Amino acid sequence: MEFGDSPREAEFRREVRAFLQAEFVGKYTSSGDGESAEYERGQRLEFRGWRGKLAERGWIAPAWPKEYGGAGLGVMEQFIMNEEFAEQRVPPVGGMGVMMVGPTLIVHGSEEQKKEHLSRILSGEARWCQGFSESAAGSDLASLQTRAVRDGDDFVINGQKIWTSNAHKADWMFMLARTDPEAPKHKGISYYLVDMKSPGIEVRPLTDLADHNMFNEVFFEDVRVPAGNMVGELNRGWYIGTTTLDFERSSIGSAVGLRHRVDEMARYARQHGGGGLACLRWELADRYVEARVARLMSYRVVTMQAKGLIPNYEASMTKLYASELTQRIANTGVKLLGLYGQLRGEKAPMRGRHGTAYLRTVSSTIAGGTSEIQRNIIAMRGLGLPRN
Ligand SMILES: Cc1cc2nc3c(=O)[nH]c(=O)nc-3n(C[C@H](O)[C@H](O)[C@H](O)COP(=O)(O)OP(=O)(O)OC[C@H]3O[C@@H](n4cnc5c(N)ncnc54)[C@H](O)[C@@H]3O)c2cc1C
Repeated sequence: MEFGDSPREAEFRREVRAFLQAEFVGKYTSSGDGESAEYERGQRLEFRGWRGKLAERGWIAPAWPKEYGGAGLGVMEQFIMNEEFAEQRVPPVGGMGVMMVGPTLIVHGSEEQKKEHLSRILSGEARWCQGFSESAAGSDLASLQTRAVRDGDDFVINGQKIWTSNAHKADWMFMLARTDPEAPKHKGISYYLVDMKSPGIEVRPLTDLADHNMFNEVFFEDVRVPAGNMVGELNRGWYIGTTTLDFERSSIGSAVGLRHRVDEMARYARQHGGGGLACLRWELADRYVEARVARLMSYRVVTMQAKGLIPNYEASMTKLYASELTQRIANTGVKLLGLYGQLRGEKAPMRGRHGTAYLRTVSSTIAGGTSEIQRNIIAMRGLGLPRN
């Protein structure tokens, strides 16, 4: 594993930094912490301009090939870009369209599907949500029961999805549905692109622990989806779905954000030090070390990818460690602030980030594969222990 940049990588890092200094810093960073209401207002107002700057370089979807509007960057360049963007707290652009369904269509989609969807993902005209999980199919996703039945030129979909992030804002959904209930469960599933305006779709919001309406239940009642919106072959959707999940997992966030949190806490402790805060010295030091470890773990995964290897239990280790660390950091944050740790909003110390994070990070060890599932993978594939 190489810890330093090669001369080419160092040059690319300089290019990214120069771009951010010229186009982002000072223009979009007035409040930018990624969570505050002020930030979100700024994002709504100014995002279009920023999106355009990224689009000029193909940096909305840096991993996509140039012919589809991306930049065709290699793994290390993408990692450097992620790191530098995280250093400046640049918010992500493009969501699940860029991260998950776009790259899946590039690999498995028909020419018509690529033509219809890819440019609208890049321009921000079409926002996407992921309809995979159901109430009895999360970790064991292949047990999903939502049905799609062929009827003339359409498939008719009935069933229910849950935990569908941003379904209430999405224009399209990529989803899995069962097309052959008699086949072994992985072999009777197909993959669809569904227009969220189709008659028969009902989105019901779910409120999370932090009082946000981020995810939803989505009900399908006789929803007609043109057969041309099926991706790949009938009953082969599971394998296309795993491609989508690989893209989701490979874009595990940069550890830089975690370090920012710890640095900010250390600054606060120095300013408001003495008395009660002194007893948190060791805890802050632990968080600092852990944030550095998380970074090294992502280096390992990225280095493997750059060498053409497919990270397996190594990616699970990184996900497990980073997601549990976000919870420990939030925990230390609320302890550091004492009673103020419960405040949320602009006027609270550190803009109420830790109070919000304390509630929101509960889900980080569930989303994208639970900690228990990651531990199973590490035990079996990493340590060679038997199943169960
Ligand atoms: C913030 C957030 C956003 C999400 N967004 C989306 C989205 O946009 N679209 C979407 O489709 N889904 C989404 N999900 C759903 C997510 O993919 C599932 O919650 C996750 O896969 C776990 O499934 P589950 O909730 O059904 O839990 P279950 O699979 O029912 O698990 C329940 C418990 O049992 C444990 N368990 C299960 N199987 C095993 C096993 N084999 N060995 C040991 N322990 C086990 C789990 O670890 C967990 O503790 C989101 C979830 C969260 C938290």
